[in-house]
Amino acid sequence: MSPTKSIAAEPKTKPSRKIAPEPVVKLRFWGVRGSTPTVDKATWRYGGNTPCLELTTPGGTRLILDCGTGLRMLGRHLESAPESRGVESYVFVTHYHWDHIQGIPFFAPLYSEQNRFHFYSFRSEYLGRDSLKRVFEAQMAHPYFPVDISAMSAPREFIEVSGGDQFDVPGARVTARWLHHPQGCLGFRFETPAGTVAYATDNEPGNPKLDQSLRELAAGADIFINDAQFTPEQLATTRKGWGHSSWLAGAKTAEEAGVKNLVLFHHDPDSTDKMMDSILREARGKFAHVWAAAEGMVMTLGQGNLDVVIPPVREWLRRETHFRARVSGFTDAGQAFEEETVIRDMSLHGALIYLDHSPKLQSELQVQLDNPGIEEGSNSPLRLRGYVVRIDPEVEKDRTAVGIVFTE
Ligand SMILES: [Zn+2]
Ligand SMILES: [Zn+2]
Repeated sequence: MSPTKSIAAEPKTKPSRKIAPEPVVKLRFWGVRGSTPTVDKATWRYGGNTPCLELTTPGGTRLILDCGTGLRMLGRHLESAPESRGVESYVFVTHYHWDHIQGIPFFAPLYSEQNRFHFYSFRSEYLGRDSLKRVFEAQMAHPYFPVDISAMSAPREFIEVSGGDQFDVPGARVTARWLHHPQGCLGFRFETPAGTVAYATDNEPGNPKLDQSLRELAAGADIFINDAQFTPEQLATTRKGWGHSSWLAGAKTAEEAGVKNLVLFHHDPDSTDKMMDSILREARGKFAHVWAAAEGMVMTLGQGNLDVVIPPVREWLRRETHFRARVSGFTDAGQAFEEETVIRDMSLHGALIYLDHSPKLQSELQVQLDNPGIEEGSNSPLRLRGYVVRIDPEVEKDRTAVGIVFTE
């Protein structure tokens, strides 16, 4: 019964569930926070960078959705990749609020003439023709930025799109729709041979025409990413009219539009990880397939399967251990379970445990460690609350390797 083979503690990049090799569409979250970046510890687990997503089509075309501070991390990643020379990307900017453009001057690939970018955004009534080009120039004007825009040597073209437009980029059909947000915002739908992703950040429910437009954008999508900045209570009272949505409004739209997976996005800067955990828990009570966007999260979609991996946010000191533990929680199918296991790898931050059950990703586990102390005769168990960040099925025969972080 006891597992015999141990696995490396390092995070794995391979998908944790078996899916067909090709074609897949891959979505990586580089920034998930709304309004302003956060750096306080209480928000580390979900992440503090403002919106930026990387969508890779089955054919390998890279699409970038929004240019928040997460864009800087994506830039570092692209520069360090072996194939970094000659990056070509299609960049979709939903609107011009700070949190969606502030990463632009810090995106290193823009400073290399071997790279090439195609930018898509709308003509703002406040900025006029070439709105996004003007944003670039304004962001880098003196005295706001030390480097002149002439240093940005990567060739870039600016394409104006509007709500209702439909066009193709290599590997994806794109549809743009207006969303309900102060000074306007576009939502984008990407249809690829491996599945459909709808990206609808920054929108508030309550405008019948634009609510319909949101449902059209999301219709039947495999992944629907929706603004969930406020709680339903805030949205009904103090935050009404601020241009944002809630998990409840997102779940309702997802249901009406026949969406397969809903991703809560654009988290409020004041929402701590614990608050996010409870928001996700509530949302799952209304709509089964809900995920809360987390920095570093990778969603791989292909052949109707969705694989989700959340890498650890920070690396911590790890130790091999041998604690007996009793674990209880809920399985992927929603069944309560309780079982005994041995914790063989542990840090002050989290642990890797092997279970017969497969708990739901982003769910809570109660972990009770028997006699963790060194004192002889001490019988009081240590009770910890864990949060599932990684699932590796079939690492050992009939057992699932489960990565958790301790939240209490
Ligand atoms: Zn925003
Ligand atoms: Zn906005």
